[in-house]
Amino acid sequence: MAPHPWTLLALPLVVLLLASVSPPGADAWGKEGHIMVCKIAENYLSEKAAAAVQDLLPPSAGGELSTVCPWADQARWHYHWSSPLHYANTPEVCGFKYSRDCHNSRGQQGMCVVGAINNYTDQLYSYGHSKSSYNLTESLMFLAHFVGDVHQPLHVGYEEDEGGNTIMLHWYRRKENLHHVWDVSIIDTAIKDFYNKSMDNMVETLKMNLTDGWSDDISHWENCANKRATCANDYAIESIHLSCNYAYKDVEQNITLGDDYFFSRYPVVQKRLAQAGIRLALILNRIFDGDETDIKPVQIQ
Ligand SMILES: [Zn+2]
Repeated sequence: MAPHPWTLLALPLVVLLLASVSPPGADAWGKEGHIMVCKIAENYLSEKAAAAVQDLLPPSAGGELSTVCPWADQARWHYHWSSPLHYANTPEVCGFKYSRDCHNSRGQQGMCVVGAINNYTDQLYSYGHSKSSYNLTESLMFLAHFVGDVHQPLHVGYEEDEGGNTIMLHWYRRKENLHHVWDVSIIDTAIKDFYNKSMDNMVETLKMNLTDGWSDDISHWENCANKRATCANDYAIESIHLSCNYAYKDVEQNITLGDDYFFSRYPVVQKRLAQAGIRLALILNRIFDGDETDIKPVQIQ
């Protein structure tokens, strides 16, 4: 497969890492969401995959994958082409179709979150090959971020309302939009109300759920028969279903969302964060520690 044009662009990484300006209205799980996804993934990496990740992380990461997982939200302000890679939109239908929905505003195929996950996975398969022409540090940082994004239900939402961005409402007393509620507010409210304002406490609870309440579900979450690409396409389908059944459900312009919405949607957010972590580890383990039959070039679908 020919590399996508975006791989040919190169800004010095250090410039990007120093550019820590927070964009207004960032369009992704908030920082916390991405950090939590990656903290969970780190727990499930094989020894070989963990070593490869360590090798690829920039020095500023301090050896922790989770520190670089929000990076792509800053990079989009320099790499403008990367903005559409954080999401996919459907024409107001509760289903995702790669051929119909995975493109940027200029109609370039593959320029959506599903295409990006497969593309950066594909690039990372060249790790250890001396002729790799990719910046695999960036490939890893993009991949870790986008696997988080594809699990945020409204990152696969309706085109018409930009994944909930144009649905203005009140979250308790604060004015917000629906997309932001799912990126940030549900998580923030949980951390404040349930975890003594500590994100680490929330991560610990998610990890405990994984070894306890969800342990039977993990093999199901990991189930990915697609050997030619990741199962990001399936994760996007799950997200649009969750958008229809939970995120958009009973929501209209100017509504006030409070306890009813929070308590019924928070379990969905918890589960999506955990699934994203498990699946990111699965993808990285397949790339860096797959058996012979697993190691095949991954193609964009
Ligand atoms: Zn994002």
